[in-house]
Amino acid sequence: MTITARTTENLNPFDIAKEQFNLAADLIDLDRSMRAVLVNPKRRLIVSIPVKMDDGSIQVFEGYRVQHNVARGPAKGGIRYHPQVTLDEVSALASWMTWKCATVGIPYGGGKGGIRVDPRTLSPSEVERLTRRYTVEIAPIIGPQIDIPAPDVYTDEQTMAWIMDTISMVTGGSQLSVVTGKPVALGGSRGRAEATARGCQFVIREAAKLLGLKLAGARVAVQGYGNAGCIAARLLHEDGARIIAISDSRGGAFNPNGLDPVAALRHKAETGSVTGLAGCDALTNEELLTVDCDILVPAALENQITAENAPLVKARIVAEAANGPVTPVADRILHENGVFGIPDILANAGGVTVSYFEWVQDLYGFFWADQEVNQSLERVMVKAFHEVYEKAQRHNVHMRTGAYCLAISRVAEATRVRGIFP
Ligand code: NAD
Repeated sequence: MTITARTTENLNPFDIAKEQFNLAADLIDLDRSMRAVLVNPKRRLIVSIPVKMDDGSIQVFEGYRVQHNVARGPAKGGIRYHPQVTLDEVSALASWMTWKCATVGIPYGGGKGGIRVDPRTLSPSEVERLTRRYTVEIAPIIGPQIDIPAPDVYTDEQTMAWIMDTISMVTGGSQLSVVTGKPVALGGSRGRAEATARGCQFVIREAAKLLGLKLAGARVAVQGYGNAGCIAARLLHEDGARIIAISDSRGGAFNPNGLDPVAALRHKAETGSVTGLAGCDALTNEELLTVDCDILVPAALENQITAENAPLVKARIVAEAANGPVTPVADRILHENGVFGIPDILANAGGVTVSYFEWVQDLYGFFWADQEVNQSLERVMVKAFHEVYEKAQRHNVHMRTGAYCLAISRVAEATRVRGIFP
């Protein structure tokens, strides 16, 4: 197989999102006007965020909130703090949220936010002031029936607690349902912290059954060791899988006999990274993607598997805990090579699904036990997996396009019955 140079691919995430959309829109014969309505974001807000730093100086950061589509319900999606965040990246992530919520059939549209910042270089009180000011800047367009943020890369339940508190202080109430991914002590849902990884585990189990792959003893590589990645490693390890490679932004650790994901988490907490884990060899993030394994879980950032390295992927299943880790050219190559891809809009939908449960619980003021959350999540994920698989089989395409066919039909139907205002 010829290997296309990485530079020939357009890696702009929003162009990629549109390409993925168009591929499925062609297959289901979506008419031109509906395409025009569905492809572009409904609203994109750019905000300037001045922050008083600990040394008394003022730094100004740029932030975004994008609402891609709200035909099926309020916009929903995380907030990312990262030095490479752009409006196009946030737009892509917002549109992936639209298709994700529709794929798993929860009543939300798609939104996403971000701030171009490296929070690791800020003190906790600087991050708090940044978060509170950003919240006030986007406050006019968020709300429990409008747009509900959640955590994403380098934001967590503490960030969500500050958002909830800021909105509550400004409005004078206690606004639990304005944001999800909150601490359980503050109207968060049981099981939300593990939900993205648990959802991923459920669909990996279904894929493994289809392929006749036993999870017990299966070799797993996980790229990214944050909320999604490290919990996925732990849950798959509990299923009997052997975690042979893990990584974070500083590099990776490899042990063909398997490593202990909980010890790895402790090591990361103590040293700041999974690199240097006892009993493991070092490996790079690039090497991790092509390591000899059965299941590969990209759980970091976009554009990790491209035309360049897709031919070298040895895994039988690629489960996208991250958003956008596989480019469209790489999708085709993996599919041709018999790799079973579980696309982001399905594989990581457990996070938004339990965010939906959290929102429902907050609105009701009545909270569920772990078992209820996890069983409800499993029902949603397993059903969605088989619906997507059925679409993919029917159109003879890979799972991503199958998921898009399903999701686009649902959003198009909601748009049709609502009609175009006025
Ligand atoms: P996180 O901040 O908890 O963890 C991110 C991890 O990625 C960290 O371990 C970091 O070191 C690592 N990382 C950063 N840059 C990297 C690089 N260049 N190479 C390798 N590793 C790198 O973030 P998260 O919430 O786990 O999000 C990870 C991915 O999962 C993102 O794509 C996010 O959009 C997606 N996701 C998260 C959720 C959620 O509920 N948190 C839900 C759906 C999807």
